[in-house]
Amino acid sequence: MSVVYDRVALIGLGLIASSIFWAIKRSGLANEVTGYARTKDTRETARRIGLCDRVCDSATEAVEGADLVILCVPVGVMGRVAAEIAPVLKPGATVSDVGSVKRSVIDAVAPHLPDGVHFVPAHPLAGTEHSGPESGFAELYDNRWCIIVPADEDTDPDAVAKLRSFWEGMGAHVDEMDADHHDLVLAVTSHAPHLIAYTMVGVADDLRRVTDSEVIKYSAAGFRDFTRIAASDPTMWRDVFLTNKDATLEILGRFTEELFALQRAIRTGDGDHLYDYFTRTRAIRRGIIEAGQDTDAPDFGRGGGRQ
Ligand code: NAP
Repeated sequence: MSVVYDRVALIGLGLIASSIFWAIKRSGLANEVTGYARTKDTRETARRIGLCDRVCDSATEAVEGADLVILCVPVGVMGRVAAEIAPVLKPGATVSDVGSVKRSVIDAVAPHLPDGVHFVPAHPLAGTEHSGPESGFAELYDNRWCIIVPADEDTDPDAVAKLRSFWEGMGAHVDEMDADHHDLVLAVTSHAPHLIAYTMVGVADDLRRVTDSEVIKYSAAGFRDFTRIAASDPTMWRDVFLTNKDATLEILGRFTEELFALQRAIRTGDGDHLYDYFTRTRAIRRGIIEAGQDTDAPDFGRGGGRQ
């Protein structure tokens, strides 16, 4: 790969930013990467592990002269960070972000950006339950999707094309989508499932007094897959639900209706309903494997045998 941007600035140095840094280095996509995180602790860790060519003590210092600035902070603080860096952005630079929600980020960030700066939001559909500067790795985006969500119809096509080749250089497949559509799709594929996992783990925790340590001991029966999702960063997920309210509530409404229907089938002994439902959902799993988005190995390839 060749250099796509001369200088890239990463604001926020957690899982997503550190993975971007290692992926940039793996493919030589930038000549220099600067970085900034809010706490001294994180900045010191970044310096110690060689995360970023230069770690700066302010966001403005990090973005000065950058051709691409990527906001890698929780969705709820994107606007504040944009306001802080706006005065020093280089004319012609591109500002992007990696936020899990797009409409609220566009509404919060766009008003702060000066004319002559391109705003091209994006969302890589890749992550783990880990967070912080030491959790990133160069392969995180390999074969994963990154959705580019141009802020409006006037977005410069060259700026979009450049960001697309940057993400492709990091191993991702790129799609473009409108912000509201993105937020609805993600409510189905990510946001509602996380809330359901949080709920299930919360219920098990409430029952702990009854079940004692059995919840942990027998967790391989399915529960542990919920616990992995429910271990995700609380700040990030609080912000996701506060900013993708309508789409998440819409999907949870549908979820509740389906749950009631399944509850009813169990109560009335309607085995056909349950069988047909589970047959339909099994086909979705097959589709995900065929699309190369997960492994077909038993138990997600953990090697522990089937449950
Ligand atoms: P993370 O590992 O928790 O890192 C967040 C980073 O943001 C930390 O370096 C933190 O600094 C910094 N930060 C927080 N508030 C800040 C502020 N006011 N000013 C400057 N820096 C600030 O989070 P992440 O998983 O990388 O997520 C970052 C973004 O990516 C979020 O918007 C999230 O929605 C999105 N995203 C996450 C995933 C995922 O699965 N994790 C997937 C796709 C997209 P300190 O360490 O100093 O506090």
